[in-house]
Amino acid sequence: MTAQIRFEMQARDGLARSGVISTPRGDIRTPAFMPVGTAATVKAMMPESVRATGADILLGNTYHLMLRPGAERIDRLGGLHEFMNWDRPILTDSGGFQVMSLAGLRKLTEAGVTFRSHIDGSKHELTPERSMEIQRLLGSDIVMCFDECPALPATDKAVAESMRLSMRWAARSKDAFGDRPGHALFGIMQGGVTPELREESAEALKAIGFDGYAVGGLAVGEGQEAMFGVLDYAPGFLPEDKPRYLMGVGKPDDIVGAVKRGIDMMDCVLPSRSGRTGQVFTRRGVLNIKNARHQDDPRPLDEACSCPACSNYSRAYLHHVFRSQEIISSMLLTWHNLHYFQDIMAGMREAIAQGRFAEWEAGFHAGRAQGDIEPL
Ligand SMILES: [Zn+2]
Repeated sequence: MTAQIRFEMQARDGLARSGVISTPRGDIRTPAFMPVGTAATVKAMMPESVRATGADILLGNTYHLMLRPGAERIDRLGGLHEFMNWDRPILTDSGGFQVMSLAGLRKLTEAGVTFRSHIDGSKHELTPERSMEIQRLLGSDIVMCFDECPALPATDKAVAESMRLSMRWAARSKDAFGDRPGHALFGIMQGGVTPELREESAEALKAIGFDGYAVGGLAVGEGQEAMFGVLDYAPGFLPEDKPRYLMGVGKPDDIVGAVKRGIDMMDCVLPSRSGRTGQVFTRRGVLNIKNARHQDDPRPLDEACSCPACSNYSRAYLHHVFRSQEIISSMLLTWHNLHYFQDIMAGMREAIAQGRFAEWEAGFHAGRAQGDIEPL
């Protein structure tokens, strides 16, 4: 299969890479951060606002969309891009991760997973074939394989068995995906924190052949040190000329550390979710807008940020609307957080292209957690 989605690596600096994934719906500059649009919306943001922050691609959730409003309904209404008014690339997850986290509500077999909806208790089944069908109905540009993500800590034996099941599901996902020019299918490496299992998983995926490769099974509570421990070697098992996607990451310093280790794409709910709880990411660390010390502060959240929240509003105003539970609080803080995350990505892309990533990274860390901003 020859997808029309292509990855062109343009620069390397150490293990960090920058490039472009070109798709029929537009280019994705890498390293890329993908905001999460769980229920066909990035919460509190209009699609044009998301685009204005610098996002080239969004992530949609198969699990949530299959339950509500349903993949067949979205298909009848013209697909997810049309439905949510976002005409640029969309990556959808496979539903696997969210189904696995239902714990007592699901049953796992070789065929797939049966589970009960968290919304109304109705019974559903997800298999590699059904996940591919749902992601096709949604019209996703980048489709993820259906996989199992074991909860850590787990024994080596349990991690190995789970990883091998995911590899069998990866082969079934590839068969079910078929030949879809203009759409890409990514495989997902598993194997926990064991190098031999990570390598075995990567070899299995490469034998099947994918348009891109995700490092799965991380950002599940193992901590940054363990995650970086895996990222120190695991990306090296994957093909050099395909995009590498780290799922569900993360905080700004996680993102920078992942790019340093050769990751090209990431997604996380953190900037949007934090925007709704008053947690603000800035160059100097995390600021909590609900803190009373902001109530008379005329300064912007971050004087170096050009987002609407920082251009037009004071910390005092943002504190006031947060405390008053005004909707504009979620809108402005989410916008700022997404803008800040995209600024980090743009800074890294430029630094990699200019061969000064180490210098950029030193500046990123040196500027953090000073002054009156609460440290991470
Ligand atoms: Zn801002």
